[in-house]
Amino acid sequence: MKKTLLLGCAGIAAFLSCNSPSGIDPSANVERIPQIEKLLSQMTLEEKVGQMAQITVDVLTVGADAFHTDEPVRLDTAILRKALIDYKIGSVLNTPGNKARTLDEWHTIISQIQDMAINETRLGIPILYGVDAIHGTTYTAGATFFPQQIGQAATWNPTLVHRAGEITAYETRASSIPWDFSPVLDIGRDPRFPRIWESFGEDMYLAGQLGVALVTGYEGDDIGNPNNIAACAKHYLGYSVPLSGKDRTPAYIPDIELRERHLPTFKAAVDAGVRSVMANSGLINGVPVHSSKKLLTDLLKGELGFTGFIVTDWKDIENIHDRDHVAKDQKEAVKLAINAGIDMSMIPYNFDFCDYLVELVNEGEVPMSRIDDAVRRILNVKWQLNLFETPVTHYKDYPLFGSDEFAHDAYATAQESMTLLKNKDSVLPLPKNARVLVAGPNANSMRTLNGGWTYTWQGTNNDAFVKGYSTILDAVTEKVGKKNVLFREGVRYINEGKYWMDETVDIKEAVRAAASVDYIILALGENSYTEKPGDLHDLSLSANQVALAQALAKTGKPIILILNEGRPRIIRPIEPLMKGIIHAFLPGNYGGMAVADVLFGDVNPSGKMPYTYPLYVNSLVTYDHKPSEHQSKMVGVYDYESDFAIQYPFGFGLSYTTFEYSNLTLSSNTLNSDGTIEIGVTIRNTGSRPGKEVVQLYTSDLYASITPDVRRLRKFKKIGLKAGESKTVSFNLKPEDLSFINEALQRVTEPGDFEVEVAGLKDRFTYVE
Ligand code: BGC
Repeated sequence: MKKTLLLGCAGIAAFLSCNSPSGIDPSANVERIPQIEKLLSQMTLEEKVGQMAQITVDVLTVGADAFHTDEPVRLDTAILRKALIDYKIGSVLNTPGNKARTLDEWHTIISQIQDMAINETRLGIPILYGVDAIHGTTYTAGATFFPQQIGQAATWNPTLVHRAGEITAYETRASSIPWDFSPVLDIGRDPRFPRIWESFGEDMYLAGQLGVALVTGYEGDDIGNPNNIAACAKHYLGYSVPLSGKDRTPAYIPDIELRERHLPTFKAAVDAGVRSVMANSGLINGVPVHSSKKLLTDLLKGELGFTGFIVTDWKDIENIHDRDHVAKDQKEAVKLAINAGIDMSMIPYNFDFCDYLVELVNEGEVPMSRIDDAVRRILNVKWQLNLFETPVTHYKDYPLFGSDEFAHDAYATAQESMTLLKNKDSVLPLPKNARVLVAGPNANSMRTLNGGWTYTWQGTNNDAFVKGYSTILDAVTEKVGKKNVLFREGVRYINEGKYWMDETVDIKEAVRAAASVDYIILALGENSYTEKPGDLHDLSLSANQVALAQALAKTGKPIILILNEGRPRIIRPIEPLMKGIIHAFLPGNYGGMAVADVLFGDVNPSGKMPYTYPLYVNSLVTYDHKPSEHQSKMVGVYDYESDFAIQYPFGFGLSYTTFEYSNLTLSSNTLNSDGTIEIGVTIRNTGSRPGKEVVQLYTSDLYASITPDVRRLRKFKKIGLKAGESKTVSFNLKPEDLSFINEALQRVTEPGDFEVEVAGLKDRFTYVE
């Protein structure tokens, strides 16, 4: 057996059975804050259980029932008393009526809730209010919207992502809200999954780096600072790879894969101090994650040493019984979840959880020590957020909310997310005196630029909030003047009912209009969606959109395709017909401007693909596949297509300038177990305009005890180069950077030869122990 470097990670025994590698009870690591310990000692069981309960705000508002809120929004004092005083509820989430609210509405609602929690309950513990502010403060009118996480990933720029976190934290606190269900640290490895756009893409290293940038942007050094918020890393663990590709359906993930691909981003966030984690709503290997002690307690709290609290996803304790049939009734579901390590239940519509949990503790089915641990974790975060001192922040103290300064940063992020995939005959940038036809269902929509979780859950009904922002059509018109623009949609989304579907408007009319223009700007993709409503039966671009593209191509006019979509819809039938292609992802409110700036050359694109763009619906591969996943034609015996058939690779993205890489140097061709290799490379801008480039360093482990990934991203750096300028970039590689999970579930670096590659330049070194 080969000797290997073992990297401080627990082995198989810890994963499968013990609480933590050291055998220590994970609750022992949680900080003892004297004031919180005192409070805990005064609490009744009912008060403790209440702290573990979270309800949705619609339950508390005047409306027909727990699912509806009347307008104008008002809290129902009787129900509020029932929740806060009778049931001693400790947390509330969401926006009333599934719509964006003004800063003043937020301040009024949260003040009223906190006022009752603090002044009318026995112990006066403040409420912890949480929302999904996933690319800006989702439910606040006037908030600054950044590209969604997938677009942020395409920037490959942790500085921008960190800034997005800081600004979102500021604007969320300006909305009187201190807790954010973000970031998504699931790995976007299956393009069918309807939430891949909420992730940082397919690579663990890129997603980990950006995840830490976002968490630290949200939390800063001190979440008690009124400009910072508590983050929530979600959806732990393995949420993004259900077998069917559909949301909240079973996943089957071997432990080795769970640790290799899905755990690292969460580990990085825990190491960066993330205060809360949300559990995966689905099942892994037949076990609902919400009832998995192995994943929640042993792995997350034990082995990773997570000292914050775990919140469920929506209704997911009920799902252990209702949906998954693992618990025979609701009470058993509560018992399984809390004993597994859940600290707070996003119930969210009733109070049964509290009744059951009190009974279970009284019956000895859930130990009091487990309750104390959960409540301590939650109260610690309330304390660290300074909610006991300042339960409600006021928007008047946040003069930069929705400011030009923030808009500038959101716009800069949108710009850097633009990923140029094709530029045949240098068709781009377009001349500013061009006459253009703008077409397609995504051409004149703010909704599609933003995607889901924008003003509402599904990103619907945003007309009232997006005034003043530019669609792609608006921004193109701004560039070339009204007289030079024709607009024919050709296809439009059905915005009512099945709003994820589209219909043709008048393709012939669009074709006719194309006769008089120089270029066609065709914006295709998807409407906004998230979660189950985003499930898909076919990853292909819709037939109507394909028909529009094909009809327009027949005119012979050069077409620039703008892809505005949350996942890579198959474009194989139309890709050869396009002269230029820009992947805009979901760039947010400044996305229209960013698209136009790239189209007309005011911005040189610098985005790089955060996922592999597939060519066929049945060939969904990632860049870090195994060697056997890329078998090309086998000469003489069988004749078959290469199974590695992709449209665009991970890490790919063109520029309007050219970069030449040279002089790949290694400080040594041997790496020792306590050593470092410095790898340098020179990049020169050989074109005539300034540009930004992402220098990407990959390694390949040539032979290993587990079939190695063909290549892995190990380091990256985004740099700017003026025309003609050269820079040398260097990276340090350590043995742990080359590690993987072996068959015994240990993280190891095995001795042997490695290839290092930067932009096609390659060299080798040997790792020796
Ligand atoms: C989603 C979570 C979200 C939660 C609260 C759930 O349905 O899966 O991502 O944080 O709702 O809105």
